[in-house]
Amino acid sequence: MSHDLPKAYDPTAIEDHWAEYWVRENLFAVKAPVAGDTPASEASSRPCGQHPFTILLPPPNVTGRLHMGHMLNQTEMDILTRWRRMSGRKALWVPGTDHAGIATQMMVERRLAAEGKTRQDLGREKFVERVWEWRKEFGGAILGQMKRLGASVDWDREYFTMDERLSVAVREAFVRLYEQGLIYRGAYIVNWCPRCQTAISDLEVVHVEQKGHLWEIKYPVVGDDGKDSGEFLTIATTRPETLLGDVAVAIHPEDERYTHLHGKKLRLPLVGREIPIVCDEWVTREFGTGAVKVTPAHDPNDFALGERHHLPSINIMDDSGHINVEGAYAGLDRYVARKKIVADLEEQGLLVGIKDHVHAVGHCDRCKTTVEPRLSTQWFIKIQPLADKAKQAVNEGHIRFTPENYKKTYFEWMDNIHDWCISRQLWWGHRIPVWHCADCHQMTVAKTDPTACAHCGSTKITQETDVLDTWFSSGLLPVSIFGWPNITAENRGDFDAFYPSSLLVTGFDILFFWVARMIMLGCWFAGDVPMPDGSKRSLADSVPFKDVYIHALVRDANREKMSKTKGNVVDPIEIVGQYGTDAVRFTLASMASPGTDIAFNVARTEGYRAFANKIWNAARFLFMNVDRAAELGISVDPSALGAMPTVDANAPLEARWIVAELHATAATVNKELENYRYDNAANTIYQFFWGSFCDWYLEIVKLRLDFSETADKAATKAALTTLLSVFEASLRLLSPFMPFLTEEIWHAVYDGNPPAKSIALTTYPQAEGQYSELLKGELIYALISCSKGAVLEMSVLQKVVTALRALRKDAGVPEKEVVSARVYCTEKDGSLTAGYLASASNQYLCNALARVKVELKLEASPHQGNIRSETGFDVEIIYEKQIDVAAETERLTRDIAKYEKGVLAASRQLGNEAFLAKAPAPVVEGLKKQAAETQQLLDKAKAALAALPKS
Ligand SMILES: [Zn+2]
Ligand SMILES: [Zn+2]
Repeated sequence: MSHDLPKAYDPTAIEDHWAEYWVRENLFAVKAPVAGDTPASEASSRPCGQHPFTILLPPPNVTGRLHMGHMLNQTEMDILTRWRRMSGRKALWVPGTDHAGIATQMMVERRLAAEGKTRQDLGREKFVERVWEWRKEFGGAILGQMKRLGASVDWDREYFTMDERLSVAVREAFVRLYEQGLIYRGAYIVNWCPRCQTAISDLEVVHVEQKGHLWEIKYPVVGDDGKDSGEFLTIATTRPETLLGDVAVAIHPEDERYTHLHGKKLRLPLVGREIPIVCDEWVTREFGTGAVKVTPAHDPNDFALGERHHLPSINIMDDSGHINVEGAYAGLDRYVARKKIVADLEEQGLLVGIKDHVHAVGHCDRCKTTVEPRLSTQWFIKIQPLADKAKQAVNEGHIRFTPENYKKTYFEWMDNIHDWCISRQLWWGHRIPVWHCADCHQMTVAKTDPTACAHCGSTKITQETDVLDTWFSSGLLPVSIFGWPNITAENRGDFDAFYPSSLLVTGFDILFFWVARMIMLGCWFAGDVPMPDGSKRSLADSVPFKDVYIHALVRDANREKMSKTKGNVVDPIEIVGQYGTDAVRFTLASMASPGTDIAFNVARTEGYRAFANKIWNAARFLFMNVDRAAELGISVDPSALGAMPTVDANAPLEARWIVAELHATAATVNKELENYRYDNAANTIYQFFWGSFCDWYLEIVKLRLDFSETADKAATKAALTTLLSVFEASLRLLSPFMPFLTEEIWHAVYDGNPPAKSIALTTYPQAEGQYSELLKGELIYALISCSKGAVLEMSVLQKVVTALRALRKDAGVPEKEVVSARVYCTEKDGSLTAGYLASASNQYLCNALARVKVELKLEASPHQGNIRSETGFDVEIIYEKQIDVAAETERLTRDIAKYEKGVLAASRQLGNEAFLAKAPAPVVEGLKKQAAETQQLLDKAKAALAALPKS
């Protein structure tokens, strides 16, 4: 047996290898079940243990690169998927990317610009070809990163929203909604990006507080004779250039200042046309002058007001934000026009004033250009029947949110939802399947490209130039990746097996972009798919997923939001390069719980790198002993591995204890993962592996591994078997969190003959039998159901040993020296300790672990000498220090000087008012604690110096 493990743990040396192996071996592929595999009646009544665990990757942009948010999201998904898979459920995680309309088009346009070309130079067809080329070359980057990080996804099922099969679904969905009267075309105010030259959704507009101006302009009142009356009405605006599109000025009907103007007209400055004064209760009398200009084509509120008063709309800007009305301003950029208009107004004496004004200005999320609200003809989904169904699904509990407060956020948004503008004026995306007829001017809407007009038969038809919003296709993913709309009797295996998926893990930032849309479209379209037995699908079976877990934000170590401008962005790939994927994953997991942001601190990752190292060294220690045992003809029966270890009642204390601990840890981890408490799960494993297994159990087991000629071979074999089987099970327990390290060591445990291709395909540890009630931290359960009481017995032993070790250190006993010790227990409060320490075997362990010769005294301690008091017992060591007075004096004097300096520095800092005012409370608290500790050390050192014999 060789159990080859390199001496040092080097994550880079093992991770690439396994990442590549998992993909090459296709380990996480889940085959499409054969139709009819799943009896219809089972679909919703199956116990969850049998229902596949299905999870969709929220598709990153094809242009994307992995950031810390992805890393957290994917770590959480991978932990759950690996855990569910190992727990016996069929587990499917489907990866893919979306085509990211605007982002991708921009990327390719930028490359063209470098060649001195525009997309218009190429033309639509050639441009789209270029985008596909770009996608082929660069589009897989983020999925490549996922592969490297070991995400246990089914790569056979990778999707791209522009794939042929998914495009079929997009057309089907559009045509169905159109035929159901739920898609319409109309002129509405949209957020227009003059740079991207497309409409963008409300969610793609970022509002930034900006310093601007409020221009006050007076409009002449037209008299009854048609001439200017000499009176003016003053309005205020933040966008004076839109004056060119004014069609009215509105006042509140009860505003007494303007009652005499009801029914009058105004002359629009610079333009000259007469516009009416209209009364509308929407106007706020207190804002500005109480009179507002009405520009329906460039403001959503004005648009609504215009509808109410049957006013025309005058669009004054072209797609690129240049003025397109005839006259002095024609062709000017919107900001150039603004300057000129303000100057002209001033010259004509119509500018009353300019006030500084801070207001929220919308910017395009993609290119940061100021968005122009603008009237434009777009395609919309009539949202109401879809939204109602989506609300019902959550209301009736068919979809659950974690943390639960996102349910409220969801309803708030769904209650105020507007019709969804689904058209984008881009070239990259799913082109809207509508053909306009040049002869009869009607539209043909079709799933397959028509050759003639459906109304008049004319062949002079041209396809709509707009494409669909990316979220239209992303929103369909839950149904489309499982074969919708082609759900036929022979072809429905996937849909029956995997729809609805179990869980969606995502960030709150795409709750509305994506989650809400998937719920709307999923409920709508899946609802039409009959159940396998032909019966109607219920809403519970129509939802796209059963659970939504909204993960938190990853912030920097100081809890600041990461941002490029602040320069505090942590690049996951860089950190992974430094510490290994496992350590980074564990860092994130150890802090991840519902609703709590993560302060990512590299120091913690360093700690978990050390944890990985500790496990590595434990493995090496283990293998060394396995090999030595083999030389004596002792070997562990492989059948002892792979299950939950058990021991009999006669096994030594440490064996009974570690097995009970392992069961308790497994019970706790399973329970915590069920509740998305990644942090509790990770920390429980950490405590078990490092604290219980490495620090205590290994130390004791060393005493049992006797390889001498006279050894009790059966005892050695039993010890080795428990050691190896507990270690192997611990690796499985840790595997979802640290897949690489555990895979490497697990293969070494089996020395090249593993029972499965991967540790990920083995069984996750579950507490069994008498242990099944065990939970860590609830010792009382341990006492009741773990009849041997090993957990309690061991905890007493640990307490005694810890106290003795601390006392030795205080007394300055050299590490190797064995000293005499006493443990004092009175009957009243120390009976447990006394009981356990009375046994020779426990005294033996105590002696070995604390390097003492212990004597049990059933009496109160004399409270003199080297004594330490604990609850239930006192410990004493018998040790006379041989003191080198000169050296001790020198050391203590040096220490005193050092402590005095520390105390002085701390008191100076704590006396500094300016510092105290600025420093965060935890920093001040830390300083105070440190100062008190230093003072205590100073006092002790002074006392020790005073107590030294004078020479
Ligand atoms: Zn833009
Ligand atoms: Zn026609």
